[in-house]
Amino acid sequence: MYDFTPKQLELQKKVRAFVKEYIDPIAKESDATGVLPLSVFKAWSEAGLACLVAPKRVGGPELDAVTCTMIMEELGYADLGVATAFGANNLCSYPVLLAGTPDQQKKHFRPLLTGNYGSFALTEPNAGSDAGAISTTARRDGDEYVINGIKCFITQGGVAATYVLFALTDKSKGSKGMSAFIVERDRPGLSTGKVEDKMGIHASNTVELILENVRVPASHLLGKEGDGMKLAMMSLDAGRLVVAAQAVGVAQRAMDECVEYAKKRMDNGKSLTDQQAVSFKIADMATAVEAGRLLVYHGAMLKAAHRSYSKNSAIAKLFCTDMAMQVARDAMEIMGTYGYTKDALIEKIWRDARILSIYEGTNQIQRIVIANAVLR
Ligand SMILES: Cc1cc2nc3c(=O)[nH]c(=O)nc-3n(C[C@H](O)[C@H](O)[C@H](O)COP(=O)(O)OP(=O)(O)OC[C@H]3O[C@@H](n4cnc5c(N)ncnc54)[C@H](O)[C@@H]3O)c2cc1C
Repeated sequence: MYDFTPKQLELQKKVRAFVKEYIDPIAKESDATGVLPLSVFKAWSEAGLACLVAPKRVGGPELDAVTCTMIMEELGYADLGVATAFGANNLCSYPVLLAGTPDQQKKHFRPLLTGNYGSFALTEPNAGSDAGAISTTARRDGDEYVINGIKCFITQGGVAATYVLFALTDKSKGSKGMSAFIVERDRPGLSTGKVEDKMGIHASNTVELILENVRVPASHLLGKEGDGMKLAMMSLDAGRLVVAAQAVGVAQRAMDECVEYAKKRMDNGKSLTDQQAVSFKIADMATAVEAGRLLVYHGAMLKAAHRSYSKNSAIAKLFCTDMAMQVARDAMEIMGTYGYTKDALIEKIWRDARILSIYEGTNQIQRIVIANAVLR
């Protein structure tokens, strides 16, 4: 169903080699310190992968959805924190791909393709699942917009060079008055606030953004005033497939770690895998991972074929993220006390996996999307 082409297999090899050279050596340290060295991202950028969806005409790799999914699965397998950090450039690029003029695309993608991060800034203290409840405003003033408000939980927000930021251009219209803007980090009045101290995915940076009379040229508006909510939701459709792919990678890694351990661990003179209770659990994990993988690549194939995929992306995210948490839990169980220590990678995987069903729309929100599609 998802036979990779020789080109995709070549790229998979390249990503695996990158992981071995750059991510494996820093993963434990980044988890402990919360710092992902910029040199790792620069190397990713030099490998031509800094913004997978950037169009060829602006110098990007313009990879199709199946190839992006494959790469995100590999990164999820390597380290979900790094995958989340690298993935930020894709998420903030979808609104620009959907509505950006050629000039806006050049402006947005240039920094992202040259070793800089970008962020997608939608969430606010009083607007998480209900994104339409944002209160950040963008008031037109001559040839500029003046932006005021607070964004929170913004991935790579503290290290990004540019943001795609959502604000109300007409408060009276609620979510229909939401618009999307390109906002550079160095605009006067823009600062970062609280840095979140998270349970996992420590390699990714999660911060608050404070906007006090931040002026951007009117030419930074993406699409028309009022297009923001539509652009945000369409971008999240794409982002959810990415999260689902990362979840499959996380689950596969959890399973591989536990299989390796269980084969070696002796119990009453037998390997743990000789216990049917253990081998059946591993069989269930393998089944769940494979089912998740099929859902993700099916969604990616629909996207790549420019077919409707919003429901499939929500289904993939719902299934794969819960599945990853379950597989991580079962893998830790099989690894016993060792699995509960920081010596075991599964401890980190379990902490990292917990975020998957929360960000880019909680799994309750995925159920709303799926039910609306099924019942309409
Ligand atoms: C590590 C991390 C990185 C993030 N990165 C970004 C980013 O880069 N950019 C960005 O804009 N945001 C980002 N977010 C924000 C993230 O997308 C939101 O946290 C998420 O959408 C949930 O919002 P909330 O936390 O406010 O939960 P709430 O909306 O407060 O929801 C709380 C609970 O209520 C449930 N709930 C809420 N509404 C409903 C409903 N209508 N029906 C049923 N159940 C409901 C939810 O499922 C959840 O279980 C990030 C968050 C985290 C933790």
